[in-house]
Amino acid sequence: MLFEPQTAEVRPLLRALDEFVREELLPLERPFLDHDFDTLLPALAAKRQLAKSLGFWLPQIPAEHGGMGLSLFEHGLVSEVLGRTILGHYTLNCQAPDAGNMEILIEYGTPAQQERFLRLLLDGDIRSCFSMTEPENAGSNPTWLSTTATKDGDDYVIDGHKWFTTGGDGAAFAIVMAVTDAAAPKHQRASMIIVPTDTPGFQIVQNTSVMGERGQGWASHAEIRYDGCRVPQSNRLGAEGMGFVIAQQRLGPGRIHHCMRWIGICQRAFDLMCRQAALREIAPGRPLAEMGQVQTWVAESRAEIDAARLLVLQTAQQIDRDGAHAARDSISLIKFHVAKVLQDVLDRAIQVHGAMGMTDETPLAFWYRHERAARIYDGPDEVHKRAVARRILGRYA
Ligand SMILES: Cc1cc2nc3c(=O)[nH]c(=O)nc-3n(C[C@H](O)[C@H](O)[C@H](O)COP(=O)(O)OP(=O)(O)OC[C@H]3O[C@@H](n4cnc5c(N)ncnc54)[C@H](O)[C@@H]3O)c2cc1C
Repeated sequence: MLFEPQTAEVRPLLRALDEFVREELLPLERPFLDHDFDTLLPALAAKRQLAKSLGFWLPQIPAEHGGMGLSLFEHGLVSEVLGRTILGHYTLNCQAPDAGNMEILIEYGTPAQQERFLRLLLDGDIRSCFSMTEPENAGSNPTWLSTTATKDGDDYVIDGHKWFTTGGDGAAFAIVMAVTDAAAPKHQRASMIIVPTDTPGFQIVQNTSVMGERGQGWASHAEIRYDGCRVPQSNRLGAEGMGFVIAQQRLGPGRIHHCMRWIGICQRAFDLMCRQAALREIAPGRPLAEMGQVQTWVAESRAEIDAARLLVLQTAQQIDRDGAHAARDSISLIKFHVAKVLQDVLDRAIQVHGAMGMTDETPLAFWYRHERAARIYDGPDEVHKRAVARRILGRYA
């Protein structure tokens, strides 16, 4: 086990979760891969109840809010175990985008907002979504938005067009990023506003097709129109103009969650690749594992996964100790580095499986389709590379 002394306390939990994932969740993967999330929901709800009863619930949330009270480092380790299956995070109620929304509601929500929106989210009774990116504007420039929230009496009236609002289909509310003061300095123009999805004017145009799949419910990405959506100003999170600051805060720990989840995916892909290499014979008595190229892929993947895990855990420790701002270089480094490792490991695992790698016999093809986006969401690779390189170079100027 890496980071031996630091992981001692959570090791029994990790073992128990590993067993839970193998026995309870892996059998549900195949129905999920058969593309009908809604049909799977009752079975998943039962697994969520079971997880809750075992104390496996909200690993990312402090104990005073009903969570497991783990450090970010410890949650990272949990996230890796859960990441080995497509359904792990959802089952423990630590899935994106709800996890990030819970965090900002805890940090910035008023008692009334927490009572109405956070409690049900923590209990797993509702889902939420985060609606920032717009088709018309470059999402990698988060200060450039066309969606507006105009004050009218005690209300905001929201007009705009969003897409890639993950889990918008079936969510009870959206946290919408909208311009509240176009004349303000660019980092203070927007605010985050809670919009219940039954608000008149909230309209899901479609679940956007991603690599050929529209998905359903949590496993989908909605295109949404906000057409004169009227909500009370008391639905704003934090002070007016704080949207950008809150968004940045939302992303710091979230990147640890994602990166460790990706490492969990890598580990599963690695296991599948090695098993296939050992069992698949290209001629009687000659397994794929004897091929030099396959051996190279195995060795490279092992090194890349282990190195990536060390880098992410080190970053998580830094955030736990010094805060996300102090760790921002490392956060950028892990975001693009682990996304690349993920893509490479998945690609090799599929190649070793041959045609079967393209089917839904394994989760590899699903991950290959959907996790290509790892290099785009939460900041495209190029944005992180540019930001971190400029900061590093600045120290040499
Ligand atoms: C699967 C998935 C889920 C998502 N979920 C959500 C969600 O729940 N809520 C939400 O609001 N959004 C979500 N997004 C949107 C995501 O945050 C944006 O896609 C991302 O911010 C990039 O914005 P864009 O797609 O508009 O790309 P653009 O901003 O148009 O960028 C296109 C490309 O330009 C390059 N580029 C951009 N800026 C720079 C730069 N400064 N230097 C060099 N190159 C650059 C990069 O290669 C980038 O990929 C999701 C996206 C995906 C794919």
